[in-house]
Amino acid sequence: MKYFRTAVLTATLLSAHSVGASELLIDGMNATASAKDWQTLCEQQLSKAREHFTAVEQGTGPANVETVLQQYEQVNYALQPLMPASYIKAVHPDKAVRDSAEACIQKIADFDSSIYLSQPFYQRLSAVDDTNLKADTRFFLHRLLRDLRRSGVDRDEETRNKIFALQQQITELGNEFGRNIQEDVRTLEVGIDDLAGLPEDYIAERVKTGEKTVTLTTNYPDLYPVLTYAHSDKLRYDLRVLAMQRGYPANAKVLKELISRRHEMAKILGYNSFAEYNMETEMIGSPEKANAFLQRINTALKDSVEQESQRALARLQKIDPTAKIVNQWQASYIDNLIRQEEYALDAKEVRQYFQYANVRDGVLKLSESLFGIEIRPWKTEVWHEDVEAYEILEDGKLIGRFYMDNHPRDGKYQHAAYWGLRNGIKGKQIPLAALAQNFPKGLMEHGQVETFLHEFGHLLHSIFAGQHQRWLDNSGLAMEWDFVEAPSQMLEEWVWDYGTLKTFAQNQQGEVIPKELFMKMNKARDYGKATGTAVQLFYAQLSLQYYMNDPAGFELQPMMVKLQQQYSPYPYMEGTHFYANFGHLDGYSSNYYTYQWSLAIATDLFSRFEKEGLNNREIAQAYRDKILAAGGSKPAAEMVEDFLGRPFNEDAYINNLKSL
Ligand SMILES: [Zn+2]
Repeated sequence: MKYFRTAVLTATLLSAHSVGASELLIDGMNATASAKDWQTLCEQQLSKAREHFTAVEQGTGPANVETVLQQYEQVNYALQPLMPASYIKAVHPDKAVRDSAEACIQKIADFDSSIYLSQPFYQRLSAVDDTNLKADTRFFLHRLLRDLRRSGVDRDEETRNKIFALQQQITELGNEFGRNIQEDVRTLEVGIDDLAGLPEDYIAERVKTGEKTVTLTTNYPDLYPVLTYAHSDKLRYDLRVLAMQRGYPANAKVLKELISRRHEMAKILGYNSFAEYNMETEMIGSPEKANAFLQRINTALKDSVEQESQRALARLQKIDPTAKIVNQWQASYIDNLIRQEEYALDAKEVRQYFQYANVRDGVLKLSESLFGIEIRPWKTEVWHEDVEAYEILEDGKLIGRFYMDNHPRDGKYQHAAYWGLRNGIKGKQIPLAALAQNFPKGLMEHGQVETFLHEFGHLLHSIFAGQHQRWLDNSGLAMEWDFVEAPSQMLEEWVWDYGTLKTFAQNQQGEVIPKELFMKMNKARDYGKATGTAVQLFYAQLSLQYYMNDPAGFELQPMMVKLQQQYSPYPYMEGTHFYANFGHLDGYSSNYYTYQWSLAIATDLFSRFEKEGLNNREIAQAYRDKILAAGGSKPAAEMVEDFLGRPFNEDAYINNLKSL
């Protein structure tokens, strides 16, 4: 078996690096590689990358596209086979393999840091004459130069060494922060009677015959149904508290350290804060603008939040007449009651129409009809029996491949996310992408269907963005971070379209979701949106304030409690430490505002589909050509303007919020 895996691995290596110029790279990833294989692959590719990089640094003679940019591109090609490391770390069933992939990620990050601190490289790049460059090449060159300067390449050696050391610490701390959350699964033993209200299939899956108690975990598939359906206030409270204690106390120290190191690095580079440093490269531009944007959203929301909160409280008081406020562990439960009673909408009635296999096929079919592609199963090696693999064709030509690891299991990444596994380059290699999600194999909630389509939107974006590119750094989801969610957020609108739903939403008897039920869902859709957005504003402010202020001047816990009071409709829950399990405080760091910002863009983009038809092939094609296909080859603001025929504005989003 070991020998076989190594052979597969070698084949991957060979095809990645020894193919003739005319041969298109279409291989899958090294799905069955062992921990040792990963270590070997990592060392081999990094050593190749280093060799190429040294050649760029030591280059003499005229500096131009061929001698500098194309030579540097070889470094990126050498690193391509290591791209799946991050996905492997998230999904591989074998912890040894996950750890090996993680070690590799750390090494890649170290190597990246050394690139961005190389003065010989910076000098060679700066010497490239950009006057006659094609637009995508010029964009690539200038972004690279800017990022090198942002790493401190033009500083003295002592400063550069200091920055390099800080970046290493930041990566390590970030990994530690995430690991502390992922591996901290808490459990709660509860009596069978406490499960009253939960769906039958939920109980059947967990309770063994003859047993009087059941052990629930803080993992989402256990947690969310409890918060939504369990009649027991105590059960919801207990599990919610446990979930918000994850990562604590370890992450209290890790996060403070992480924020401090980032602040220190930003100061050395001449910025006031890490947020200022971080937002310089985004559409939004600065923490002050982000703060102002969040304030405008907050103002637009005020009345709607108040109305929703009063309504929820009135319902809670029917259960507990002494209640003064709806708490966090009660919100989903009360929401569901109101949906059932006032919108006659029962989540259980809805979910019968969303069997996983039908939903998956529906998502694929929608993508096919919107964008004129064909998606079919792809026979290839995978790392677990749950994994599904597909390939995408256009006019019979293979244009991309992807994996979906869509069901929960121990040790696996617990959210839903997209990973790029290989960037597409015109005529050279097709894009390879993947999703890791955690859906039941049976019935899904409508919200999960929305999540599925959202993540699939990222996947499609990366595939379409990898068709015309000439540079790896321009391919895939390489655009500004505060734009990257917009296409996926826009695509969510399609699960709120009956024409789309009726193509796949069928129950076991083969009955299509009734129009009447769908109308009810749409009516109930906006309910809870104001409070939900307010919670998002709290998260965004937490991320912004942690990173725009000097960490020497505040403590994590009190600042979080204060921001929660200011923005969240729900009071702080004693004994919880949300910041210790809010993983985005590493990945998004200061930039969680992006969720709201890109939603504002998505709403603006969607206005054109709304006017001209959700199934309008022509509009969908224009959208694909102007926005998705552009990848990271130009500023996002330009793509949006190309599609809309005018610059982006947030009016459509603000109007939506005011009308809630
Ligand atoms: Zn997303």
